[in-house]
Amino acid sequence: MKTLPINLCQTQETLGYLHREIHARRTALRNGSTPAALERELAHWEKIIQKLQTESLLQKNTRMELLYAVSQELNASLDWEETIQTVIDAVIRLTGAERGMLVLKEAGKLQTQVMRNATGKPFSEKALNFSKSIVQRALAEKKPLLTNNAQIDPRFQDSESISALGLRSILCAPLIYRDVELGVIYVENRAHAGIFSPDDLAVLAAFTNQAAVALANARTHQATNRALTRRVEELTLLQEMIRDLNGRLNFNRVMERSIAWAIKATQAANGALGLPSPEGIQWLALSTQITPADTETAKEVLQCHQPNFSPERIILPLMRENRPLGVFYLVAGEEPFTTKELELVTRLADNAAIAVENARLYEALLHSNQAKSEFVSLVSHELRTPMTSIRGYSEMLQKGMVGELTAQQLQFVETIQRNADRMRILVQDLLDISRIESGHLKIQPVATELSQSLEAAYQTVTEMLTVKQQEFNAALDEDLPLLLADPDRLTQVLINLLSNAVKYTPAGGKITVRAHFEPDRPAFVCCAITDTGYGISPADQCKLFTKFFRSEHPAIRKETGTGLGLAITKNLVELHGGAIWVQSTEGVGTTFFFTTPVAGDVSRR
Ligand code: ADP
Repeated sequence: MKTLPINLCQTQETLGYLHREIHARRTALRNGSTPAALERELAHWEKIIQKLQTESLLQKNTRMELLYAVSQELNASLDWEETIQTVIDAVIRLTGAERGMLVLKEAGKLQTQVMRNATGKPFSEKALNFSKSIVQRALAEKKPLLTNNAQIDPRFQDSESISALGLRSILCAPLIYRDVELGVIYVENRAHAGIFSPDDLAVLAAFTNQAAVALANARTHQATNRALTRRVEELTLLQEMIRDLNGRLNFNRVMERSIAWAIKATQAANGALGLPSPEGIQWLALSTQITPADTETAKEVLQCHQPNFSPERIILPLMRENRPLGVFYLVAGEEPFTTKELELVTRLADNAAIAVENARLYEALLHSNQAKSEFVSLVSHELRTPMTSIRGYSEMLQKGMVGELTAQQLQFVETIQRNADRMRILVQDLLDISRIESGHLKIQPVATELSQSLEAAYQTVTEMLTVKQQEFNAALDEDLPLLLADPDRLTQVLINLLSNAVKYTPAGGKITVRAHFEPDRPAFVCCAITDTGYGISPADQCKLFTKFFRSEHPAIRKETGTGLGLAITKNLVELHGGAIWVQSTEGVGTTFFFTTPVAGDVSRR
């Protein structure tokens, strides 16, 4: 029995082979072939038919398997590039075409996205062309189209591209997903006619449905990814801008930076920032000429709180709590503005407005602080002069320099002196606080001995100690190094802490000052002032060191005070680079600790 000399799946060869066989049998019949020979021939033909049927079944199965395999591949990725490559590779494998291309709609226009040929060779420009009439027909009919010789196909007689490109065998299937035309899959063979069979068409149709779903998914994924990337970029930009703007409190600088960020974000050519002014609008941070007409529009924007948008320029109000703070004026660069830039700059303006408002508030605060400091220092100076005369004259009276005083007169004079002293301290404290707040309080650190400052402070409180019959002890480490401190300010710190200890400790109590140097923290000396007084409640400890704080404890309230001493002390300690903290137990006593930097090279004594 003869075996078939060809692979029966290859249609062209199969047909040729069959024609040749038929011709040979006819000639044999004409030449008087016997019935037995004829019988043998028929049996042979039956075998051929059987073989063809088996082959066709096998071929179908193989295609189904291939179709299944490529569907699996299609579902494996959501990446756009990978998906279009997989689609086109699968098409070549499924149809055995010479070349295939994916023609997809981009912004409404059909464009070749990817092309492949069986050999993998690069394509010429010409090869990238496809027959528009075939593609349009497939899309219009919404079903796959097959032509086995386009040159003579009556459907495309009028198509110039078909003859120009020498197209013959073409398969074209529309990619439609949920009624949206994505494009077509287009496979062709230019040299030969009759390459594709209706089976190829059916396989391509089945595959195209899956490919359409995969492409639509990949496109959605791509769009989501792009949107996400854009959002991340935008957020990063906003974050950078906020960090940049919040780092500054100078109003004009914040304005300049805000418009610079707006220009950067929108890729504008230039821009300016307008502020409401009595004349209407005042332009700042100007990097462009603004026409009178645009100034008028900007005034309207300020009034109606609505942006004015055109592809050439954006005028946008900077709003804060429904109040316009100013306007962004942006001029488009090479690319015209779109609503995307408007949305972005609106979000940017919302954030910039906060920084602009903060800078404005800060400047207002600085101005009012300045005014307050000037006022306090003026009042203090004005008070000091009369205070000095009150103190001086009352001292003269007390010393009997203008005649002997009666016991009652002396008592009155002493009251005047006490109150004048209180006033003097209050005025001094107010002056210090206002200097601290305006940043004008300066210290002049020099190598200082703690013991000398302590001695001076002790002299100030010694009278109070005697009156209250309190015990005083000082225990300074013998080898204390010199401190790097302003001696007067160090004395002031010690006076504040010592006088508080004396004031807020009942008569007969004990006050101790200790200072030690820790070799493992050699940059500082730690000083502690301990009393056996009323103590401070945990709640009050949280409020210590704030201006005007005074405890509600009745024994403490009985003492005179302003609530400014600790706030000043903390500032003085910190100006020196040290720290201050407290440990206290109600009814037991309090210890205030503070550190002061050591002078120079830990020069120990
Ligand atoms: P003043 O002593 O003029 O009230 P300060 O700022 O020096 O102001 O102190 C603030 C408050 O802290 C005091 O009124 C008091 O309530 C509390 N305080 C400070 N030192 C002590 C202390 N050694 N013991 C108890 N309470 C204290």
